[in-house]
Amino acid sequence: MTQLSKNAETTVLHAGPRHDPGSGAVAVPIFQTTSYQFKSTEQAANLFALKEFGNIYSRLMNPTNDALEQKVAALEGGVAALAVSSGQAASAISIQNLCRPGDNIVSSTDLYGGTWNLFANTLPSMGIEVRFADPADPESFRRATDARTRAYYAETLPNPKLTVFPIGEVAAIGRSLGVPLIMDNTAAPMICRPLDHGAAIVVHSITKYIGGHGTSIGGVIVDGGNFDWAAHADRFPTLNQPDASYHGAVWTEAVKPLGPIAYIIRARVILLRDIGSCMSPFSAFQFIQGLETMPLRMREHCRNANDVAHFLQRHPAVERVIFAGMHKDPEQRRRASTYLKGGYGGLVGFELRDGREAGVRFIDALKMFYHVANIGDVRSLAIHPASTTHSQLSPADQIASGVTPGYVRLSVGIEHIDDIIADLDQALTAATGITAKAA
Ligand code: PLP
Repeated sequence: MTQLSKNAETTVLHAGPRHDPGSGAVAVPIFQTTSYQFKSTEQAANLFALKEFGNIYSRLMNPTNDALEQKVAALEGGVAALAVSSGQAASAISIQNLCRPGDNIVSSTDLYGGTWNLFANTLPSMGIEVRFADPADPESFRRATDARTRAYYAETLPNPKLTVFPIGEVAAIGRSLGVPLIMDNTAAPMICRPLDHGAAIVVHSITKYIGGHGTSIGGVIVDGGNFDWAAHADRFPTLNQPDASYHGAVWTEAVKPLGPIAYIIRARVILLRDIGSCMSPFSAFQFIQGLETMPLRMREHCRNANDVAHFLQRHPAVERVIFAGMHKDPEQRRRASTYLKGGYGGLVGFELRDGREAGVRFIDALKMFYHVANIGDVRSLAIHPASTTHSQLSPADQIASGVTPGYVRLSVGIEHIDDIIADLDQALTAATGITAKAA
């Protein structure tokens, strides 16, 4: 497509190659190959020198992965993307691409548990400090910034709190100081485009809503092409100083003729080359199948979640409902309406009046919902964080992270809404002895 549509429904189908040039195949073929025949020694040398773009080896690039990358980049409004082996790899590489030992990033406290572990333990053990800032107070990001701060990091719609991150506010602070904002947009594909609000980089666990079918683990990093790395050369030595591992390339200079893609090219040719966390072409194919219907599914997830939130709000066994479309705080309401379009996502949390025991009984009583540690599947999923994902945290830390003893997290699927509500209804009655009719 020469002129890309602004509409996600069209973009996910038509961005990137519209057919395979070799066979004419319309569906993206699975290029299950490790390597690619060079046309000549001259071409091979040009490819390695990045004078010419093309395929060398599937750890670095693959035509199936390339089609997925072009589609996700277009969906997010970015200039280029990199598919990697998992959402975790996407988060780690997005930071390692900018940081060396002694550097720091400033991250929101509200994070997926795996990212929390990466930030609180593994990155510090590699010499990268992570300073935590309060998403309720955007200025806390500014206060935590110093000359070695290489990025800000946050999630669009972090659970369990399901409060929308102030993307524009923190991106603006970062831009005034020369610090890019990296947004994990896993929970809000299509309904939020962080790059439109000033973020520089978007990461996804495409394991979740983009894949949708729960068949594959994968991640994508999208380069917004909207951050001037060269204007802050001292802050970004990995992109502005000669790279000894790539015959002295200065990435902001070396790829200038190709567009503002220094960040994503370095992630590919240095970090995928050296760390090797590439995506299998078979998984890329699976993700393309998911992505092509993601806008339809996302609408259903949002609609069903909204109905579930209202059902739970009326239920007498439920103390509180946590849903991005139902916050009472005016600032939270403003953020949700500013940053989410077309729905509030598929995640709903709620607290049972009878606490931990009721939470456990509720999960055990569900008949249709799956009890799994996942989100974004087409099927409805539930988990009781206090007895599972957050059980290693002290009671005080659980509360600080938004997990009360009776908190249940739902990832609402795309089954018929009547069946979703019927399952929740019977499980609430079984767990608490209270029926919806008592309201
Ligand atoms: N980011 C978020 C918001 C997640 O929910 C997850 C996984 O649950 C990840 C990142 C990590 O993704 P993956 O499991 O694909 O490594």
